[in-house]
Amino acid sequence: MITFYPGPSRVYDKVPEYVRQAYDEGILSINHRSSEFMSLLEHTNQLVKKKLNVPDDYQIFYLSSATECWQVIAQSFDGLSYHFYNGAFGKKWFENTKKIKPLTIGYHYEMNKVLNLSELDLSGEDGLICLTQNETSNGTCISNKRIAKIRKEYPNHIIAVDATSSLGGSKLNIENADIWYASVQKCLGLPAGMSVMICSPYALEARNDCRKYYNSLNAIVDNAAKSQTTHTPNVLNLYLLNRVLATTKNVAKISQGLQDRMKAYLEFFETKVELKPLITNSKVRSETVLVLQGNPELISKIKEEAKVEGIMLGNGYGEHKNGTFRIANFPAIRNKEINSLIEFIDKSTN
Ligand SMILES: *Cc1c(COP(=O)(O)O)cnc(C)c1O
Repeated sequence: MITFYPGPSRVYDKVPEYVRQAYDEGILSINHRSSEFMSLLEHTNQLVKKKLNVPDDYQIFYLSSATECWQVIAQSFDGLSYHFYNGAFGKKWFENTKKIKPLTIGYHYEMNKVLNLSELDLSGEDGLICLTQNETSNGTCISNKRIAKIRKEYPNHIIAVDATSSLGGSKLNIENADIWYASVQKCLGLPAGMSVMICSPYALEARNDCRKYYNSLNAIVDNAAKSQTTHTPNVLNLYLLNRVLATTKNVAKISQGLQDRMKAYLEFFETKVELKPLITNSKVRSETVLVLQGNPELISKIKEEAKVEGIMLGNGYGEHKNGTFRIANFPAIRNKEINSLIEFIDKSTN
């Protein structure tokens, strides 16, 4: 089965081999307070910084999911949290935070529109601005340029970014925001069960002094200073991330390749009257998740026929469940698989 599901998604081809090697090297049983673990973590940090162009003074942490990052951020920063969202994941982040901090403010914007923060009064001197850089449910993104503009306009706020379905695929200008996070089962091409969170010195300075939870940011930071984690982490996934990053190109190169692939997809779908990209504004269209809309009957027919052919398409998500399907444009997917998909869709439509 070739999967185009945008998470959990296709893992890199080498993953089974790396798992075997992890076993052979004894990685699966190492103690997370041992020097072997500490050097694995340090080396992985170096690779994350190098391959994903993370500024040197940012710190990297390993948590268990993007959802856990929502939790950690909500409980570790005081001040208001402003959530701008246009889709299901951004909304979930907002709702999750609101449960912990009831004064949290959510602002919904149109998915085909460029995000404009000035529609909301952020006049408080501080607080968090929470953005979903790549909205996996509808295939929109927020450009580097837009995030840079927000940084400039709101220099005192902490900018937190959900990059779950873009980190590892899109070239993100990390220096323009304070907190970035992603779980690894999407664009990073690994099995589920771990997330990466990247924090600026500014964000770390602004954290509160909460130590109530096992995953309070203070506990995470203290452990990271010793190249350790608060709890026994997903060592296998850390190892896999290390091995994958060691061989992949710099994300700037990867991103170029994904943009070319997306261009080819869009050109192909221009020839198909019955399937159209949900996102018509090219300024906000994601380069890693393509959402196509059409008649719900056609959508379910295509998905079913695809399955028979060994191709797994992503179901529509949330309010777009019935009228769309999703295609992950993640780096672990091979060119020949994309060709098979295009051939299949060409055959099954007019
Ligand atoms: C998948 C996804 C999440 C949730 O990831 P988990 O690993 O299940 O916590 C959060 N945000 C976005 C944008 C996602 O695509």
